[in-house]
Amino acid sequence: MTQADGAPTLSPYISEADIQARILELARQIDADYAHDEDIVLVGVLRGSFIFLADLARRMTVPHHVDFIAVSSYGSGTVSSGVVRLVMDLRTDITDKHVIIVEDIVDTGHTVQYLIRTLAARGPASVRTCALLRKLDRKVVDVPVDYLGFDIPDAWVVGYGLDYADRYRTLPYIGVLEWGAEE
Ligand code: 5GP
Repeated sequence: MTQADGAPTLSPYISEADIQARILELARQIDADYAHDEDIVLVGVLRGSFIFLADLARRMTVPHHVDFIAVSSYGSGTVSSGVVRLVMDLRTDITDKHVIIVEDIVDTGHTVQYLIRTLAARGPASVRTCALLRKLDRKVVDVPVDYLGFDIPDAWVVGYGLDYADRYRTLPYIGVLEWGAEE
């Protein structure tokens, strides 16, 4: 994506009502799948997933723990470097626990691949992934998304926890940011 000078324009893409309806469906699915499991840990990937995780966790009825992990794979722009670094680790010991990684968006797949490998090495009972959004056209590595909100085309999306340069996170809906194509 090129970013010409000037302010980007924001267009609504997924409404608040559609997001909330889909989250309820995901929570119902997780409740059913984990009905007989104890020690479920939702691992929110900071910072983009904090609003999604808060809504998902409150819609779930199976008891679960919540913890957070932070990774960084991007510089200040919108292009993935492909190199993922652990910035903040979990406080929970996930040995023998059922881990659900909660991501805002799967783009190239590098971040989720890194997280699955890193957390699977700690002896959990299981590791699954839940992502609100996935950009199929951008896939570089194949990663399983067990619980998916929406597949979206290749665009820079913001809102509902997702930012651009730390802006737009608190929008209740998902919008697409576009920069003018002028030279
Ligand atoms: P991946 O490692 O799959 O390429 O990138 C995943 C991370 O990139 C996401 O957790 C998110 O932080 C960031 N990301 C990828 N695409 C977008 C996007 O369209 N908007 C925003 N705000 N972040 C994105």
